[in-house]
Amino acid sequence: SKTAAVIGAGIAGIAAAIRLAVKGYQVNVFEANAYPGGKLSGFSQDGFRFDAGPSLFTMPQLVDELFQLAGRNPKNEFNYIRLAETCRYFWDDHTRLTAWADRDAFAKEVATRLGEPAGHLLAHLDDSAAKYAITEKLFLHRSLHKLATWFNRDALHGYWNLPKLEVFKTMNRANEQRFQNPKLVQLFNRYATYNGSDPYQTPATMNIIPHLEYNIGAFFPKDGMIGITNSLVRLAEELGVRFLYNTRVTELVTEGNRVVGVRAEGMGHGAEGMGQREKDALVTPDSPPSAPCPLPNAYDVVVSNMDIVSAFRKLLPNARQPERILRQPKSSSGLIYYWGIRREFSELGLHNIFFSSDYRAEFEAIFNRKTLLDDPTVYLNITSKHKPDDAPAGCENWFLLINAPNNSGQDWDELIAKTRQNVIRKLSQNLGVEVSSLIVCESVLDPRSIEIRTSSSQGALYGNSSNNRFAAFLRHANFSHQFRNLYFVGGSVHPGGGIPLCLLSAKIATDLI
Ligand code: FAD
Repeated sequence: SKTAAVIGAGIAGIAAAIRLAVKGYQVNVFEANAYPGGKLSGFSQDGFRFDAGPSLFTMPQLVDELFQLAGRNPKNEFNYIRLAETCRYFWDDHTRLTAWADRDAFAKEVATRLGEPAGHLLAHLDDSAAKYAITEKLFLHRSLHKLATWFNRDALHGYWNLPKLEVFKTMNRANEQRFQNPKLVQLFNRYATYNGSDPYQTPATMNIIPHLEYNIGAFFPKDGMIGITNSLVRLAEELGVRFLYNTRVTELVTEGNRVVGVRAEGMGHGAEGMGQREKDALVTPDSPPSAPCPLPNAYDVVVSNMDIVSAFRKLLPNARQPERILRQPKSSSGLIYYWGIRREFSELGLHNIFFSSDYRAEFEAIFNRKTLLDDPTVYLNITSKHKPDDAPAGCENWFLLINAPNNSGQDWDELIAKTRQNVIRKLSQNLGVEVSSLIVCESVLDPRSIEIRTSSSQGALYGNSSNNRFAAFLRHANFSHQFRNLYFVGGSVHPGGGIPLCLLSAKIATDLI
């Protein structure tokens, strides 16, 4: 059978491996870490379990589709629930608001608590749905870099509707025109952060994002976010995909217009606890797991799930570098504090936001001055609300994410310490308790460690930022223009970052194969 190498067991790499296995390929997945999932991983500490990265799960049908492709019933393999409330919002003036999944309930809440006419909210969600319908057909399911995409019927129809995407207006401008209450403008501006962008720069097109949460739904996997990774790795293994952990690919060996070999270092196989034996060898489709064989055996197809900047700079240093794409400004990153908390808070839900009092200044600091303000917006995720065994009895597992600039050599240790104090102050004021005394265990993730653990350029969470209105055209294609058997998937290439788009990148790339 044909052979494929996938570089990286991030969510897009796993999805690509499954799709290739279903097509009959014999697939090896090379993963530098000892565990799969990349950003979508998890860990336990002192009786608390934490999802390390993503916390919001949308478009679960894209995960289901992978089980269906393999002839399985997703209901038997991967369970999730639809959330009745999408997020609880807190402002320092003690205004509180619950965003309900039910549009009418949310519109009523907005009218009662913020005095905003319900019609404004409903019109906004309708507009979001309309924008999504246009972009879905044109951008999300197909390669932007193939002529056929631009001349098919859906696309030709879509052109008439392009003005509805409002590319020449910023998201903030559109939201200010829509809503009277600045709190609601802030609430909907927040959706720019779902792809690491700045609402004061990103085009109003990005108002498609709320559609995912309100019109399609926000979900929670029964086993936590890590359940997405674990169930898909299980499926891949059952389909015969081989995962080689602790194995970092160091070079793609090329000849003419083809990749002919994958050079890797590490064990070549990664059962937990295996000692690191540094080795440099060509790992081939048929080399036995623990003894990489040096035969220069070509893979028919190579799929890179590595960040596109790292892929070109590190694996293909001698190839032509697509500089314009590689040098695009990156999305924001994050400071993440994982706290075990020895108390329960009934006023908190699964997703909570504590807004800063000056949102514009916060984004100006993140994107222009590359620093953090003393009053940051704090996102607090508590999976033990839905999965009680994630924390000991009477306790909660707090995941706090603060939007942060990407890594450009800031003094992160100082920013981590300072922001920790600011977060504690903000939460203590809002919740009326001294939060610091409740923290029983702690871990921290910052842009540096995100970069080291996943090879993401500058620790960006979502590849390139979407602040530029042409951003969609400045992401790399899902295939290589230079090497006929090389494809790219993941959050740094088309169609973009976040779990749903990563899953779509795997679909687009493997459809092209
Ligand atoms: P990555 O997760 O980036 O993984 C790449 C993998 O490739 C890694 O495992 C890495 O070790 C491996 N690798 C790299 N180079 C090599 C090499 N040379 N050899 C072998 N292996 C290599 N998205 C959402 O949808 N919802 C959210 O709520 C959300 N919140 C987020 C919060 C945080 C804190 C973070 C960090 C991200 C969040 N995201 C969210 C974004 C989402 O996690 C990413 O877009 C997505 O997981 C990226 O997947 P990927 O396939 O691009 O691979």
